[in-house]
Formats: sequence, structure tokens, C-alpha cells
Amino acid sequence: MLISLIVPCYNEEESLPFLYNALCDVRNEESTYGFEFIFVNDGSSDKTASVIKDFADKDPDVKYIFFSRNFGKEAAMFAGLQKAKGDMVAIMDADMQDPPSLIPSMIRSIENDEADIVASRRVSREGEPRIRSFFARMFYKIINSMIDVEIADGARDFRLMKRQVVDAILELSERQRFSKGIFAWVGFRTKWIEFVNTERVAGQTKWSFWKLFKYAIDGIVSFTTAPLRLATYVGFGTALAGFVYLIYYFIRAIILRIYNEVPGYPSLLCFILFIGGMILMALGILGEYMGRTFIEVKRRPLYIKSEESEE
Ligand code: UDP
Ligand code: MG
Repeated sequence: MLISLIVPCYNEEESLPFLYNALCDVRNEESTYGFEFIFVNDGSSDKTASVIKDFADKDPDVKYIFFSRNFGKEAAMFAGLQKAKGDMVAIMDADMQDPPSLIPSMIRSIENDEADIVASRRVSREGEPRIRSFFARMFYKIINSMIDVEIADGARDFRLMKRQVVDAILELSERQRFSKGIFAWVGFRTKWIEFVNTERVAGQTKWSFWKLFKYAIDGIVSFTTAPLRLATYVGFGTALAGFVYLIYYFIRAIILRIYNEVPGYPSLLCFILFIGGMILMALGILGEYMGRTFIEVKRRPLYIKSEESEE
């Protein structure tokens, strides 16, 4: 039985030696299995590439894919999944925030047929800015209220999957990938293991606030059309309010004969601004989906390889 461990790496020259050692420990512990370590270098600008090549020179279990530029973690994970040959496949971060020491217990769970996927979630968000945790929680609340499958709060991409599950994931050929959603969407029996967040072993996080915000919008828009419906509801509500207001004025003026002495300039301005805002919002939402359709129909590859290890 072969186990593939996929590691997306973007500027991780400092963390990789720690991770590699930890992976070797796992390999020694689980000596009944064969292992392959797949490092996907996502266009790093530091020495990540040469660090990976050093591993590969010494260790035949190390495989790699280098991207021609930074294509993002989603693309890196996908490339790794495509390359993986294992009967079980795991994805993990390079910075040791996904503890490699959990892998043996994940393997046990699949061996005992408790689940097809062993996924991990963080129970605390220590070592992370408060504001980021707050927005992350909000994101999960919002997206889960809109979609049919449940995306667990704190779920990591760190997971061990059976071959069957990997094949299902590779079958989803969409360009804009939102893995947390895709993992939930393909189904299968999932066992959750929980762990406490640890700080990255070295280097810097690659996520800025703006990048996370875009990620959140991508997640929602690529997984549900509920916001389109929201635009419809809001539009309907505004129109209804306008209509009620009209009737009110009609009754006041024609029946009760009350006229406004003060010209209704401020209220008019409010309404114009409000309705204008609503229209822009609806257009914006439409635009998001239009843009996405545009990118999907271009059918561009998710990533370009510049180099790859031999089989
Ligand atoms: N990563 C990547 N491409 C990117 C950004 C990140 O392959 O464009 C990798 C990164 O090297 C790490 C993992 O994705 O292995 C998670 O990144 P990071 O630790 O920065 O995210 P955080 O843990 O802060 O959510
Ligand atoms: Mg990290």
C-alpha cells in the first residue's frame, strides 16, 4: 500500500527542513507502508526549489512539481492530487501547522474502516489575529446558511483520503476551485479529528486580509447562486416599499387633502441613493457570476509546470 503526502509550498525554505524530518519520522513509524512525498513549489521566490531538489537527490520517495509562477494553494493542491499515486493521499501545509504526528492515527482510522476521509479541524485559533478569527467565523456562518452541504468552521485542508475520494475530487474540473467546498460536496464518510492551533514553525503567513476577503467571496460565489436570489429579494422588497409609500401619499393628498409645504428634497435624495445602491449591488452580484462564467469557459489549465520529477 502506498501513501502519498502532498505539500503545497510557497516561499517555505525555512519550514521545509523541519517538515521533511517530521515526514521521515512518520515514514519510519509506518514502515508497513510505502510513501511518496510530493512537494509542489508554487512559484516561490526564495530557495524553496533548491531545498526540494536536495531532498529529492537524497531520497527517492521525494517527488516534486514546480510551477512557472505563483498559482495559489488551490492549484498546488490540485497538481499534487493529480500526481499522487497512493492508495491513501494526504494534503498538508509546509509550515507544520498541520501536525505530521497526526498522520499515523489518521491511517489507523482508515485501516479500521471507520471512515473514507479523516479530516482535521482546529478547535482554537490561538496565535491568529482576533480580527481574522472573527471574520473567519462570520464567513462560515454566512456560507453555511447559503449552501446545501456543511463546511465545518475551522476545517483545514489537512486530511487523509482514500483513492476513491481523490478520484472523485479530480473529476470536478472547475477552474475556480474552493477546496473546502469541494471536499464537502463530494461526500463520503468523514471522521473529524480536532487539534489545537500552533504557530507556523518559520517564515510568514501568505495570507493578507485582502487575499482572505477575496478567498471568502470566491468560496461563496463558486459554490452557490444564493446571492443572486438575495438580489431578487432585496429588489422586490425595495419596490414594494416604494409602492406602499406611493399609496400612502395618494391617500394623504387625495383623500385626507394633506399637502407637504416643505419640498420633499431630502427624502427624495434618500430614495434615489437607496435604490441606486440596490441596483448597483444586484449588478455587482451578477457581474461576479458573469466573470466566473467567463473564466470557466476559457478552460485554461489551473497551473503551468516548469519542472517535474520523474516517476
Ligand atoms: N501556499 C501555496 N501557495 C500560495 C499560498 C500558500 O502553496 O499562494 C501554501 C503555503 O506554502 C503553506 C500553505 O499553503 O504550505 C498554507 O499557507 P499559510 O501557512 O501561509 O496559510 P495559513 O496557515 O496562515 O492559513
Ligand atoms: Mg500556515
